[in-house]
Amino acid sequence: MEKRKALIAANWKMHKTLDESVAFTEALQRETGALEDREVVIAPPFTALIGVRHIMHQKGFKLAAQNCHWEEKGAFTGEVSTGMLKDAGCDYVLIGHSERRHIFGETDEAIEKKVGAAFKNGLLPILCVGEVLEDRKAGRTIEVIGAQLEKAVKGLSRNLAEQLVIAYEPVWAIGTGLTATPQQAQEVHAFIRDRYGSLHDKVVANAIRIVYGGSVKPDNVDALMAELDIDGMLVGGASLEVASFKRIVQFKFMEK
Ligand code: PEP
Repeated sequence: MEKRKALIAANWKMHKTLDESVAFTEALQRETGALEDREVVIAPPFTALIGVRHIMHQKGFKLAAQNCHWEEKGAFTGEVSTGMLKDAGCDYVLIGHSERRHIFGETDEAIEKKVGAAFKNGLLPILCVGEVLEDRKAGRTIEVIGAQLEKAVKGLSRNLAEQLVIAYEPVWAIGTGLTATPQQAQEVHAFIRDRYGSLHDKVVANAIRIVYGGSVKPDNVDALMAELDIDGMLVGGASLEVASFKRIVQFKFMEK
């Protein structure tokens, strides 16, 4: 089985001006240098994408957008298409983040269309799935995650399916300081891989990267990354400071 390359992604949400984004990416790269065994992805606000693209790509870091629209162009005021994001230098795009689902009412249907549009224009989707606290308390976590996953990936060919990145982000852990324990996260990651295997096949399921997000911090990253089916991190709050994100990027690698 081929090894899955760890992916550490920063989601800056609606934080940082262009100057702040440039200063951060330059400082991070000065401190970490080029990294061979892990992939670093940063998702700044749209307004900073073009300004940081060259800095990021020089050292092999990858650029992500935080959202996209599924149409190529048209009368969709305020939206940005996947072709435009590719043109701006993006490699990845976050799709279905819980803030998009819960604050902006994004549906599973819209998310499926966005995943298709991303692949069509050569972007790799980072598909976010996650249960709210009520679901977890009621024992519905697996059911909710399974349904979100199936609806988002049902139309994908095998070739595209193996390039998808999935982010398991329990909604109750995002920005709350409550992290899923490594065991809780591993249990859901293993379920996602298994369900993906039934939707496609085992080879595809073993190839995809499933990253965890939800209050990842310098002091919990190593334990989370040690779990078998956890292939990386999606980091919000702790990605806004160079020192804490650098420590997360430099998680201690363990053979699994
Ligand atoms: C996120 O928004 O994707 C996230 C995981 O945020 P935080 O790390 O702040 O919980």
